Amino acid sequence: MKCSECQEDAVIRVARRGKNYCANHFRRYFLAQVGGVLNKYRIEGEVAVGVSGGKDSASCLEALTHFRRVEVVPFHIDLGIGGYSRESLKHARKLAKKLGLELNTVDLKEEYGVTIPELERRGRGRICGLCGTIKRYLINRFAHENGLDYIATGRNLSDVVSSMFNNLANVYLTPFRGLEPYLEEMREFKLVGRIRPLYYLKDEECLVYAETNGIPFHRDVCPFSSGSPANKLKDWLHELDSKNPGILRNFARSFMRIEERMGRNREEMRGCERCGYATATRICRFCRIIDR
Ligand code: SF4
Ligand code: ZN
Ligand code: ZN
Repeated sequence: MKCSECQEDAVIRVARRGKNYCANHFRRYFLAQVGGVLNKYRIEGEVAVGVSGGKDSASCLEALTHFRRVEVVPFHIDLGIGGYSRESLKHARKLAKKLGLELNTVDLKEEYGVTIPELERRGRGRICGLCGTIKRYLINRFAHENGLDYIATGRNLSDVVSSMFNNLANVYLTPFRGLEPYLEEMREFKLVGRIRPLYYLKDEECLVYAETNGIPFHRDVCPFSSGSPANKLKDWLHELDSKNPGILRNFARSFMRIEERMGRNREEMRGCERCGYATATRICRFCRIIDR
């Protein structure tokens, strides 16, 4: 397979565009997708980037360093998930060092006296839901306390669409709010603006970008992710997209339109009585999880 733009061997086919790309031309394509998100929402300034050590957040952090308008600040949370978390931290450090950046870390056990496996053993709710709440809360808090302009996460197109299908499967419609690549800040509730630079890129594209650009990342899978319905949906969606190139993007676009029609949820927000950060209830979900 040859690159559609030059004579080099191709490393990936982007079927949606009907093109094969060599490593160089794929980098241009990938960075153009990231740049498209930054341009559309006029993002510039200091960006806290959540780095888990996996391929997506590693690609996200590295890709953002190509744009002078943003200054990236890597942030890692040690979730205390045994060997998985040790590998995650090791690779997040390796990546930050390679990029000449200082890695900021929070250790859940040290700071809040609890690990994800401990929460799982207590059996209060779906663990990935709790873990997601903790991660979102801590990176927002980090960015707010350090006066940073934005938060960026490595959530890609495959993640966004599969999790929306998972929500539909569970008749859970609240997350239709905040589906766009950019969610604006609400400083009155200490909510920092959030961007998803990989919003238009699929799993495979993030993997090939990391592999062909020498970006350190680990391939371990969190022990709590196995057999999750969202992962099964992701496999199904990828299969669908391979037969109907571009369908994942169209799903994302449709979800955004649904969000527009639902309108924003500002009036329901308030400050948590414990920590002061944004919540729709008296005590925010993070404080409730930690209190338990
Ligand atoms: Fe957390 Fe679930 Fe991801 Fe594991 S798979 S890191 S528990 S959200
Ligand atoms: Zn080429
Ligand atoms: Zn709180």
